[in-house]
Amino acid sequence: MRGVVMYAPGDVRVDDRPEPAILEPTDAIIRLSATCICGSDLWPYRGAEPVDHQVMGHEYVGVVEEVGPQVRNIKVGDFVVGSFWASDNTCEICRAGYQAYCVHRVLMGTIGTQSERARVPLADGTLVATPGMPDPDLIPSLMAASDVLGTGWFAAVAAQAGPGKTVAVVGDGAVGLLGILAAKQLGAERIIAFSRHADRQALAKEFGATDIVEERGDHGVARVKDLTGGLGAHSVIEAVGTQEAMMQAIRSTRPGGHVGFVGVSHDVAIPGDELFMAGVHIHGGPAPVRQYLPELVQLIWDRKIDPGKVFDLVLPLDRAAEGYRAMDQRTATKVLLTV
Ligand SMILES: [Zn+2]
Repeated sequence: MRGVVMYAPGDVRVDDRPEPAILEPTDAIIRLSATCICGSDLWPYRGAEPVDHQVMGHEYVGVVEEVGPQVRNIKVGDFVVGSFWASDNTCEICRAGYQAYCVHRVLMGTIGTQSERARVPLADGTLVATPGMPDPDLIPSLMAASDVLGTGWFAAVAAQAGPGKTVAVVGDGAVGLLGILAAKQLGAERIIAFSRHADRQALAKEFGATDIVEERGDHGVARVKDLTGGLGAHSVIEAVGTQEAMMQAIRSTRPGGHVGFVGVSHDVAIPGDELFMAGVHIHGGPAPVRQYLPELVQLIWDRKIDPGKVFDLVLPLDRAAEGYRAMDQRTATKVLLTV
């Protein structure tokens, strides 16, 4: 089958890869309906993480073709969505809603779902079946649920976005934009988006942003303070993962407020004295997307949200290298690969 392999930073190819097979009795094999490129795939692409002939991709939707003998709930022919961590959904950590830390978790990125087919471990725990075969126009939104929507949703929950709250969002990539959508769905009163790109500002507003701040760093923090009577936001989403973004998030939060951070952290070091004096709650990390999938799939199925709008470039799988280039050069926010 065809699948993406990153040979080295900046060198993405679509190769013939071995067909996936059932390895564990709890596995399923899916045929992907679509896959996509994640902002986190850019870290190795840019040489910020080591990479050597790595299979790529951890987001997936598709149709189940085969299940192992111990799979009970997922059936051949189901259309399914799953998160980037395979999880049993039964251990104590999963039952507490933290499936990204399942004691049996498997990182889908090690399997590589930028491909025609893929093995999904722990199929009953990992996969959520849609109520039926989706209309083709729903596939981008279901695809978004696999990671970027679920991650933005977790960030908004971790930041305690809700009625009466002012939410600020650091990062105008797909996760930040969908954090705005999540904050709006959770009932936030005011949503401040940090963005300096006109197209992303427009989508931020469409998803529910009420204010746009173009300044970054401490100038951006000052603008948020101006907009909130000098107090800072109640809830701040950090969806970048850099030192500047994390400090911008913490400094934009009022005392007693909440930071939800989901940008994959790269060399972030929070000064202890500043953390001590900030008086804010900080929660984040790899999102337990599986916790939210049933609710998100239903919202998409009922056409109440349209997170698929974050995909602004669609390419066939064989042109994945172009997709990586476009996201690296920021000419695309998020790339959908058709299979
Ligand atoms: Zn578990």
